Amino acid sequence: MPIDFSAELNSDQLAAVTSRDRFALVLAGAGSGKTRTLTYRVAWLLEQGVPPWRILLLTFTNKAATEMLSRVEDLTGVPRSEFWGGTFHSIGQRILRTNAELVGRRKDYTILDASDADSLFGKVCKRVNAEFLKGKNAPKPKVIFDLISYARNTRRPLGEIIEERMPWVPDAERVIPLYGEAYAEEKRAQNLCDFDDLLELFLELLENNPSVREQYSKRFRHILVDEFQDTNTLQSEIIRRLISEENSLTAVGDDAQCIYTWRGANYENITRFPETYEGTALHKIEINYRSTPQILDFANSVLASREESLGFSKTLRATRQGGRKPFLVPTIDAYDQARLVIRRISSLVNDEDYSPNDIIVLYRAHVHAKELELELSRAGIPFLITSGVQFFQQAHVRDFVAILRFLVNPTDGVAFSRILALMEKVGPRTAGKTLELAGKIAAKKKVHLFTALSDEAVLKKIPAPALDDYRDFIISLQDMHESLCGKDLEAPAEEPAEAEEDDLFAFAAKNLAAIPSVAETTRVAGTPAEVVRIGLDGWYGDFIRKIYADWQQRGDDLRSLIGFAEKYESLDDLLAQLALLNSETNKEDVDGGERDRPMIRLSTIHQAKGLEYPIVFVIGCAEEMFPLKRAIESGDVDEERRLFYVAATRAKDELYMLYPKIRSSYGEPGLMEASRFVREADPNSYEMLHVSGRSSLRSNR
Ligand code: ATP
Ligand code: MG
Repeated sequence: MPIDFSAELNSDQLAAVTSRDRFALVLAGAGSGKTRTLTYRVAWLLEQGVPPWRILLLTFTNKAATEMLSRVEDLTGVPRSEFWGGTFHSIGQRILRTNAELVGRRKDYTILDASDADSLFGKVCKRVNAEFLKGKNAPKPKVIFDLISYARNTRRPLGEIIEERMPWVPDAERVIPLYGEAYAEEKRAQNLCDFDDLLELFLELLENNPSVREQYSKRFRHILVDEFQDTNTLQSEIIRRLISEENSLTAVGDDAQCIYTWRGANYENITRFPETYEGTALHKIEINYRSTPQILDFANSVLASREESLGFSKTLRATRQGGRKPFLVPTIDAYDQARLVIRRISSLVNDEDYSPNDIIVLYRAHVHAKELELELSRAGIPFLITSGVQFFQQAHVRDFVAILRFLVNPTDGVAFSRILALMEKVGPRTAGKTLELAGKIAAKKKVHLFTALSDEAVLKKIPAPALDDYRDFIISLQDMHESLCGKDLEAPAEEPAEAEEDDLFAFAAKNLAAIPSVAETTRVAGTPAEVVRIGLDGWYGDFIRKIYADWQQRGDDLRSLIGFAEKYESLDDLLAQLALLNSETNKEDVDGGERDRPMIRLSTIHQAKGLEYPIVFVIGCAEEMFPLKRAIESGDVDEERRLFYVAATRAKDELYMLYPKIRSSYGEPGLMEASRFVREADPNSYEMLHVSGRSSLRSNR
């Protein structure tokens, strides 16, 4: 059945879909049908007799590409497998497979995933210059890796980026480029590609091989790109190389939704598009099909209050009618916020015929959702985290929880082993032996296990590169223990069992068991929150700086555990709750079948770009949460504002913005005020909703 293009598209969309101009840029606000326009353009091209393999569709995620192509399949009956559609990386990889030799790889090259790449890079750095890494303030290889990656994606000179980001590190400008070169050489020698290579080598292929370039630019007669505002320089260069005299390029985007500059996205790619591609036909769509007029008014107002007006201005008009103003809901604290969200969800699902699948809860940072995760688990409401890992599943949180577990239960060899494995050259065997030996020494010398762990004989077992970390870890552990028990570690431990020299393991286990667990000790001096704080001020709090590029974010996550711990009377309770939470099945790693179950979604805003949901909750709409404190301190909140705009414009029917008035994340309770993005918007464009702990959002209808 032929598609009635003019019935299903407005005149601006139709013009873009049926454009015969070589270059078309659709520049339009959220929910105005940009993605729909691209989908219909594919269908239209097919109708014009263009074979599917001549169409190249570039999108931001593979999922988006699959969705668009299946939609085209539905519209036209052409199987999606016949198109070339996907992310820049996936297309790069497909093309490199056939041309690997031309860029110094063999066809059977393997792709390094992020952690493989990190570990290879780390090895190379050590080989090239181990001294540099040992320097005071020296960044970890992972941090250096990300810096090099940023330079590659933005195609800016590495030296410039080093100067910008690490001016305080001596010798960085000399050593880091050497790491980069050696790493590139290693990948070549081992026939490997990391993710950036899939773009960089793709571009190199096109740049250095005119015949290959011609082949592809002839082949892809029509190139279509979604979310163009978030392309980086490398990606826009690839497109430029694919364009020749004969092909067409349709790009759609919204400069107000550019949210990936931190990864090298450059919205100038969109503002400069008409200059780069002479004769560009510009299509603006100012009609929004997604949201109610009230939601749209609010979103427009959020953008209107930004200081600097980017490239193109646009005000969206709604096509839908009816609806309610977005709500701003102050809540007492993050738990109250979680409970209000849950209550509203229950009435939406039970009384108002919404499916859980219609609902998404968005947040600026994962850490803002942890109370909600907990309350949803408690309430037995299935949810799916569609962005990354559940808060309590994240490596740094689990590592720190392992320290707490070992503190409370020194026989927990699994926890001990997890912590020690973080240190260089320490594996499970060394960890096991260390604990065993310390147990024996504790028994013999009649000291506490945590004292024995720093005995000279035990220290000798620790590989040299790990020694500093190990020592600091034990000191930190002792500090936490003292706070927890109000007990001096030098005091003798309880009578140890007799030594059974011939069965060391049984011996150690017995003696460890003889050490009173914290729960058994009588005088509990430090509250769980205090103990957590002491732990974070100690070894692990420093350690994350060395191993994670985003240590600030992870540090914030961890510090938020202090407030979290305040809810618990004892560390045992806290740990028990965490263990139960991790055993639930209502989280991300549910298997395929489970995924079909209706579930509400939880996601960071970054991961929700391009999507739409009837009901959207944005939690954590407070100053220092959204915009993040870090952004406020750096004096640049523009990208945060765009992100807020993205969040608000995901909503079709209802938008709820909540924030906790009392901050508990950093241990010191403080009062928070609503996000500036809401306060600066027109006060008539949203409604304040004051709900007491007992009432629900629904009662205000
Ligand atoms: P975003 O900026 O968030 O990526 P977008 O501009 O890509 O948004 P789409 O997702 O394509 O917008 O469209 C938003 C919604 O509006 C979709 O549900 C789409 O089907 C609908 N829509 C778009 N154009 C029309 C139209 N002409 N008639 C009816 N519905 C439309
Ligand atoms: Mg879109």
